[in-house]
Amino acid sequence: MKKPTYYTTRRKFVKRISQGAGAGLFLPASMGVLGSACSSNQQSSETVTESTEAPAKKDRLGLALVGLGNYSKGQLAPALEQTEKCYLAGIVTGTPAKAEEWKQKYNIPDGNIYNYDNYDELVNNDDIDIIYVVLPNSMHAEYTIRAAKAGKHVMCEKPMAISVDECQQMIDACNQNNVQLAVGYRLHYEPFNQEVIRLGQEQVFGPLTGIDNAFGFTIGDPTQWRLDYERAGGGALMDVGIYTIQAACYTSGEEPVSVVAEEFKTDMEKFSEVDETINFTLTFPSGLKANCQTSYNKNYNKLRGEAENGWFELSPAYTYGPLAGETSEGPMDFPQISEQAVHMDRFAECIMQNEMIKTTGEMGMRDMKIIEAIYQSIEQGSQEVPIDL
Ligand code: NAD
Repeated sequence: MKKPTYYTTRRKFVKRISQGAGAGLFLPASMGVLGSACSSNQQSSETVTESTEAPAKKDRLGLALVGLGNYSKGQLAPALEQTEKCYLAGIVTGTPAKAEEWKQKYNIPDGNIYNYDNYDELVNNDDIDIIYVVLPNSMHAEYTIRAAKAGKHVMCEKPMAISVDECQQMIDACNQNNVQLAVGYRLHYEPFNQEVIRLGQEQVFGPLTGIDNAFGFTIGDPTQWRLDYERAGGGALMDVGIYTIQAACYTSGEEPVSVVAEEFKTDMEKFSEVDETINFTLTFPSGLKANCQTSYNKNYNKLRGEAENGWFELSPAYTYGPLAGETSEGPMDFPQISEQAVHMDRFAECIMQNEMIKTTGEMGMRDMKIIEAIYQSIEQGSQEVPIDL
């Protein structure tokens, strides 16, 4: 039997792509974004290679973090010490002092340390299979596209980009270069949120009659990139409101058809460029409505589903844990896990098994379309805006 492409060396893989022989490794962009499991790749048999070299099979894939800020340092690097299918193989940073610190702490070889200028040379590095983009939002598209061109699979942080156009370019680049693209939606493999998916989508308490969810926090430093429109692309909605969009979709198993949104601002100076607080209501094809709130000036963190015969609620719902949940029948009891470790492992496993992760680029683009409709509704004085997915 011929081997799937991930067994081959990276340089050969990219060379083959440039010769046009690698097309169609992963499922097409048209695949739905609400699929409940990794899907087998129907096209894989057409994309095997003719290598005569002994394949270097990997038990774990090498992952490089791009951007060593708070999330990388506080969550992803520690999670990569728990992962079983991937490991921290490299870093990309513009700060030499950080490179030195991470090199010592995580035993990263010099040859796997890159900066933003020599980033494209990753094409020659067979240790690194996955690039994880953890940069300010406006940089996601560029660094995802460059990673794809270097033949690397990409995990990109949320929000996937700052416009639908950018999301499409990222998806195209990954498809053209035959690599898989995931968005850092870490809750899809988290037990409490998975239970909400089961309760909602399987209608355990009967059909849903409403969803209420809210995610907000009080943002600090007024000089940070999150408050700079050019680098963030938007405010609370782009940053944490996106979780409420996600939750409304995965709880209901539906995708919204329209939205009505309203913005509130109390600090005109701090939030002169980006949104502070937004309330919006998504309407789904079944008629179900999800009321969502997001803010950079209020602390809330809740997901509640009301159904005909009961209810369920997570609070907190979206943080790194510990999460907590309850239903009309009593408290939920699930293990607390590293959401990031499970998500990265699942991605690596999907790549190794030539399957598609649930948290696709298409899902990231869907959410960006919803976000653009929310901003449009605000601009139009809270008119109902159709969402064309
Ligand atoms: P951060 O500000 O702590 O880190 C950003 C990193 O980017 C820093 O290392 C910084 O040096 C680097 N950088 C490069 N060019 C920059 C520029 N022009 N301006 C500012 N920084 C620049 O941010 P963070 O909290 O780590 O967030 C990074 C990304 O991760 C964001 O997209 C964010 O939405 C996402 N994130 C996701 C989660 C999650 O739970 N999935 C949590 C936190 C952050």
